[in-house]
Amino acid sequence: MKNSSHTSPPKLFSHLYIERSVLDHPQTQMIRAKFGESQVIVIDHYKEVFNRPSQSFAAQSRSKKLILARKEGKFLHEGSQYSDGFDHKQFFYASSVMGCLYDCDYCYLQGLYPSANTVLFVNLEEAFVQLLPYLGEDTLVATSYDTDTLAIESLTHQTREWLAFAEDHKHLHLEIRTKSANIKSLKSIAPNPRVTLAWTLSPQEIIDVYEHATPSFEKRLSAVEEAIALGWKVRLCVDPVIYTEHFDSLYPKLIDQIFETIDPNAIEHLTLGSFRMSQNHLRALKKLRRSDVAFYPYAVRDEMVTYPERIENTILETLLSKALVYLPQERIRTWQRQL
Ligand code: SF4
Repeated sequence: MKNSSHTSPPKLFSHLYIERSVLDHPQTQMIRAKFGESQVIVIDHYKEVFNRPSQSFAAQSRSKKLILARKEGKFLHEGSQYSDGFDHKQFFYASSVMGCLYDCDYCYLQGLYPSANTVLFVNLEEAFVQLLPYLGEDTLVATSYDTDTLAIESLTHQTREWLAFAEDHKHLHLEIRTKSANIKSLKSIAPNPRVTLAWTLSPQEIIDVYEHATPSFEKRLSAVEEAIALGWKVRLCVDPVIYTEHFDSLYPKLIDQIFETIDPNAIEHLTLGSFRMSQNHLRALKKLRRSDVAFYPYAVRDEMVTYPERIENTILETLLSKALVYLPQERIRTWQRQL
């Protein structure tokens, strides 16, 4: 395994860029109060900062700035072919944040956005208005899709707002995907059986090399334990699996470690899936030259890159046979390229 150039944890939000139109929004004011020492720069539109040409993703990752903005247009997007909609009739993901506090080498956001800074759209109330027409029938919304919303919950309170909204809409299901170990904000909220907290778990060796600034495996697992004890529905995701020379030992050991601590009956599903990405995003990742994960000789099919079929099958067979020791087949979800 080859490391990349990441060393120290990122410094957070020395600068707040704030769109003039949201200066008086209550969330803007709350965030300004929290970051009293940050330099505030008023802008007309977030793209002035976020879409500037010739930005350095690597340098910005080490010193992220926060941009507060108003989302114009759609907050909700149809779930993509790279994700599991868990058989819900409708599946959307909500995009209320652009960018992530974490910095995973395999993250498609590096290929999607021109900047490593974070844009927070403070007008979440408009996402709820946009969602209302769909809520007459079974609908899943992934609230943490282009970011890790729990990682910045203490700053945004957006998860709390989603949970309060879901409480009032009986056809609405939420998936909150995270690598965060901070579930403090959930402790004062009654668990909702239509809300699933989904933790991505990786071997510590993979976290050390590829998942920069994220909590350790041990801390994530403690958060999982705590969430289960509080009564939350939990899904565990060993996804994306990164294929390395020690794959055969790292990932089966991970599954054993998980279920030495977590009662298999206490989780809803285990999700398994190998690394995948759109070809365009991979091209952008290669240009950044930040990690060996971009340069694996992947197979391409229908604009999607993933491991060659033989390796993809090895990954799934290895993980599945280990997972079946703990869980019945129907509670294991696998992502595999459609042939
Ligand atoms: S936690 Fe998820 S969204 Fe954040 S950098 Fe990692 S892969 Fe990307």
